[in-house]
Amino acid sequence: MADVDHRPSNFIRQIIDKDLASGKHNSVHTRFPPEPNGFLHIGHAKSICLNFGIAEDYQGSCNLRFDDTNPEKENIDFVHSIQQDVKWLGFDWQEPLHYSSDYFDKLYGFAVELIQKGLAYVCFLNAEEMREYRGSLTKPGKHSPTRDTSPEENLALFEKMRAGGFKEGECSLRAKIDMSSPFICMRDPVIYRVKFAHHHQTGDTWCIYPMYDFTHCISDALEGITHSLCTLEFQDNRRLYDWILDNISIDCHPQQIEFSRLNLEYTVMSKRKLQTLVEKQVVQGWDDPRMPTIAGLRRRGYTPESIREFAKRIGVTKQDNIIEMSALESCIRDDLNVRAPRAMAVLDPLKVTITNYPDSELQWLDVSNHPNDDSLGQRQLPFGKVVYIDQADFREEANKKYKRLVTGGCVRLRNAYVIQADEVVKDTNGKVIELLCSYLPETLGENPADGRKVRGVIHWVEATQAKPAEFRVYDRLFSVPNPAAEEDFLQCVNPESLLIKQGLVEPSLQHAAAGHAYQFEREGYYCADSIDSSSERLVFNRTVGLRDSWSDAS
Ligand code: ATP
Ligand code: MG
Repeated sequence: MADVDHRPSNFIRQIIDKDLASGKHNSVHTRFPPEPNGFLHIGHAKSICLNFGIAEDYQGSCNLRFDDTNPEKENIDFVHSIQQDVKWLGFDWQEPLHYSSDYFDKLYGFAVELIQKGLAYVCFLNAEEMREYRGSLTKPGKHSPTRDTSPEENLALFEKMRAGGFKEGECSLRAKIDMSSPFICMRDPVIYRVKFAHHHQTGDTWCIYPMYDFTHCISDALEGITHSLCTLEFQDNRRLYDWILDNISIDCHPQQIEFSRLNLEYTVMSKRKLQTLVEKQVVQGWDDPRMPTIAGLRRRGYTPESIREFAKRIGVTKQDNIIEMSALESCIRDDLNVRAPRAMAVLDPLKVTITNYPDSELQWLDVSNHPNDDSLGQRQLPFGKVVYIDQADFREEANKKYKRLVTGGCVRLRNAYVIQADEVVKDTNGKVIELLCSYLPETLGENPADGRKVRGVIHWVEATQAKPAEFRVYDRLFSVPNPAAEEDFLQCVNPESLLIKQGLVEPSLQHAAAGHAYQFEREGYYCADSIDSSSERLVFNRTVGLRDSWSDAS
């Protein structure tokens, strides 16, 4: 899919245009700051496309920064997967890669500065007391007993915290702001806590770690970020972002701008919930093709272009909403319609013996890989005495609306001959197990000369050359549009989110490369599974159906 030159504007671009015009900034510097506590999901893709997209369009730069202040929940595998996913989406960051943990020394220094200015203090309230003292939206908070202790005393206590002199939860460092602020986040927020945790970047150097709100604004400022784009839930925290930068000795003061997060129907988007799905083995890992993770979408057969196009189509606003899954699906369908070669696969095989075809004769037909794009070339398709069609493409009887095969009727086998169903063979239960058909030899690329009516065109594979394949037919992971709103989201997992079928593919697919996409004629878009597929065992994942079956259903 070609990138369209015209990029839709949005309120963030308007702010940037204004800042450049007024001379507030000469260039634009954004960042994407994931916490390495899970795989990236499609919501992150929106943020990536926004931040890296703006940097690209304004010839600025965008940092990739790991927001790694929670060592217990983070690990190096997530650090690696995130880099891989950003690159796969087609973006690159300015070297070096950044980590908030690069700034632990500086952050400590800024905390000391706040203490020296009488703007931070060590507090000994436990978590429960802290909650109680904080008050509520209708009730102002109460001052901590140590709120007015001297800077000297606090410096010594903070140093002792750093040296491991206090247990986890025993004390914390808090910014001294306003216990009656209407913004709860301004009621003396904790900025450092004790955690005896090994860190994937800094090892055991630290036993105190800075909180997100303290770390984020300072990391932005240290990197010279001009516009710090984040999701709406940080709207209140903007006061804290600004307060911290206003009260420490730092020259740069980035502007925080909030936009609405992406929510998608029939899935969940919080890393904690995604983690639960993995841990409880509801799915087979972060990259399970049913997951809304970038790794899952990739394995499902989504292309980077389709995800970038999706981000473009949904745009950037301040309105919270839930996007329909069909919006994402139409992006990949549009992309694969153009680029995926066509092929034939039979998911529920029904044997068809062509009684008037010579016994062991194989005919190789030249067929094109794409109806509208010759550059995708041609392939050879064998035709022979026994073929398989899909069980759903035959009925003993049907009315005229049924455009497939019925007893006594004719259909065209795609790219090959017209056949007529003469007889059915049934097993002892009355199930049709084979069709005896005759073919019309003069119908290769021609209609039957005798005027026999052809009901439709169906797909098929030739029996001796076809390769067995597993088809993983994926559906939405949840059976309700907004599982996150349910009491227990695990209760509404769709029991039919994965249907596995054993069928056959045409021989040209024997060496289908991992991740390679095809349009299986009349079935949908599939790609060779990147993990389980090999030339001995073919596994295809359904990326998306040919049509929007969801709106059909509703
Ligand atoms: P989650 O709630 O899924 O755990 P998070 O916000 O904690 O997400 P981070 O790793 O902190 O995850 O996110 C990195 C960046 O991606 C942040 O700037 C965040 O605002 C953005 N982001 C996260 N989720 C979404 C989303 N659903 N839509 C848009 N941007 C998102
Ligand atoms: Mg976060």
